[in-house]
Order: sequence, then structure tokens, then C-alpha cells
Amino acid sequence: KLHNTIQELKGNIRVFCRVRPCMGEEKPAEISYPDQGEDANEIEVLTEGTGSSLNGNSLKKYPFKFDRVFAPDINNEEIFDEISQLIQSAMDGYNVCIFAYGQTGSGKTYTMSSPTGMIPCAVQMIYNRAFGLRERGWEYRMEGQFLEIYNESIKDLLVSNSNDDGDKRRYEIYHDAKEGKTFVTNLTREPLESSEQVSWLLEQSAKNRFVAATNANEHSSRSHSVFMLHIQGINHLTGERCHSTLNLIDLAGSERLSHSQSTGDRLKETQAINKSLSCLGDVIHALGSEKEGTYVPYRNSKLTNLLQHSLGGNSKTLMFVNVSPVQQHVSETLCSLRFATKVN
Ligand code: ADP
Ligand code: MG
Repeated sequence: KLHNTIQELKGNIRVFCRVRPCMGEEKPAEISYPDQGEDANEIEVLTEGTGSSLNGNSLKKYPFKFDRVFAPDINNEEIFDEISQLIQSAMDGYNVCIFAYGQTGSGKTYTMSSPTGMIPCAVQMIYNRAFGLRERGWEYRMEGQFLEIYNESIKDLLVSNSNDDGDKRRYEIYHDAKEGKTFVTNLTREPLESSEQVSWLLEQSAKNRFVAATNANEHSSRSHSVFMLHIQGINHLTGERCHSTLNLIDLAGSERLSHSQSTGDRLKETQAINKSLSCLGDVIHALGSEKEGTYVPYRNSKLTNLLQHSLGGNSKTLMFVNVSPVQQHVSETLCSLRFATKVN
């Protein structure tokens, strides 16, 4: 294996910004895309300045740059094209994490798990490529896990909790440092031999997420969901082997939740989300930092602890920052864009 310099690490982190389309009666914010080319990577938000202004109508321009910027007319298929190289890396033995970050309603789930989203497309692509590689001696095996992190505790989305007892199993994270692998005790691991099995897994996890919540949408916006695809390749002709994990993560809504308005369980929930998202930002920032020997605070949250062997080293990370195009959401949009700028 190549020795990885810090520079190479920085090269392994990408941030893509995606703006969803306006729907129905939504009033659009003033967002522009200065470069219109194939590799567009700029976005500008025009809004009232944060400073005081006597005439009150002075607009200020907030420009941002990312690895790519996708305007609202770019569809899932075009976006998948841009990440297919990462999926190929996962087949070549690199661990990969793909996150969707953004406020509730900004298009994270649409990007990741809708029928045209990154999860189904990634799995389909792996099946197709694996089939093509068979004649060169490669055989690929895949296993899937689907979990949720809510209030810093793990739940198995492949276990039905519709019975009154609920799921009483304990899910603990432990690491095999020598192998560079992470395990979660008791977590279901499903062999995936066909795209039907993948559809089943996705349906099952959506159903279990739903059952758990009185208000499904609200619950899903307050938890992180993590789909882990374990890929093993063995070449019967050359004896080569590779294994990796592709992690696809739909993060909890990033909207700023006011501590003053919440109490009890709600306050605990709010603090858990704020803390885990800021920990994730800290970890990605530390990994991209120029300084050698920068301390990476993986242990500060369940999510970063779980993903520690898939972040850093020679793993590859992509973060989608999903934003809303709506005027009413413009200050959350600026927060999300600033967060994403900081991590990179
Ligand atoms: P989040 O998961 O961030 O809360 P969703 O993915 O549920 O947001 O998106 C909110 C709504 O916007 C949904 O109705 C979704 O179908 C729609 N939507 C999001 N992104 C797009 C898009 N690129 N094209 C069309 N509809 C979208
Ligand atoms: Mg969602």
C-alpha cells in the first residue's frame, strides 16, 4: 500500500453542493450560479446583509465554492455519474463514506434513498460491474447493514420492533485495530445476492423506521441513518482479494434547534443532534487539515466512532450539502453552506 501523505488525505475529501428545485407556492431565494460549465463549482446567495442598514433594503452577496455545485435542474442520474468513481473505488478495496448534510426538507433523503437515489444506483452499479468482472476471475460478495443513530444510541433498522417488547438487544461498537475494521454487536448483516434482496432491505428499513415513530418524518429528521454495504472481492485466477465498506449516510436535519424552547427529552435530542453534527464537522476538518499529527476526535460521537475506519487513512469521503432554494430558508441555507465550507 502507498504511504499516504497528509496532502493525499486532503485529496480524499470532497464536498458537493446540491440545491433542490422550488415546489408549489414556494417563494425562491436569490441564488445564482456564476459558472455554468460542466464542472460548475460556484454558488452565490443574495440576501439582506447581516450588518445594520438604515434603508433596510441593501442586499449582500454571499459567494461559496465547493468541489461541485448542482443547480436545481440537475437530476439524480447526473449526480450519480459524478460519484460513480467513488463506487468503483469501493469495489477496488477503499472504504467510502457518502454523507447528506442539510436542513430538513432540503433533499437529503431524495438524494440518498429515493428509487433514483445514490443507494439504489450504487448497489445496481456494483452488481453490473461485478457481473462484467466474472470472466476475469473476480467474484464479489455483498452484505448489507442498516442502522439508525438516535440520541447517541444505535438501533437496527433490519429488526422489526412492532412487538410490544421492542428491541432490547444491545448494540455496542468495537474496533479491530489490526484489521482496521469496526463491528457492532448484534447488528443484523444480510447477504445481498440480488437487487430484489436489496429492495427488500431498503423496504424493511423504511418500514422499521416508520413503525418506531408517531410522526415518521419528524423522527427521521432527528436521527442519522447509516446504510453499510460490505463488499468482498476474490479473484479465483490470481488469488487477489479485497474488502471494503461503502457507507451511505442520511444525516439528521441540521436546522438550528433552539435550546431555550426545548425541555426534557426534546432538549436531550436537540443536544445530541447538534453535538454529533459538529463532531462530524470536526473530524472531517481534522482529516483535511494540513498539519501532520492532527488529533482526530473520532470518539466524541457515536457516528464518528462507528465510521472511524471509513474516515481517514486511504478512505474516501464525500459530503453532499443539500440546500433549499426557498427565501424563507435562506438563513439556514447560509449556515449549511458555511458548515460545508468549514469542513473542507
Ligand atoms: P430531507 O430528507 O432533507 O428532509 P427530502 O429528501 O425529504 O428532504 O425532500 C423534501 C421534499 O422535496 C420531498 O418531497 C422530495 O421529494 C422533494 N425533493 C427534494 N429534492 C428534490 C429534487 N432534486 N427534485 C425533485 N424533488 C425533490
Ligand atoms: Mg429525510
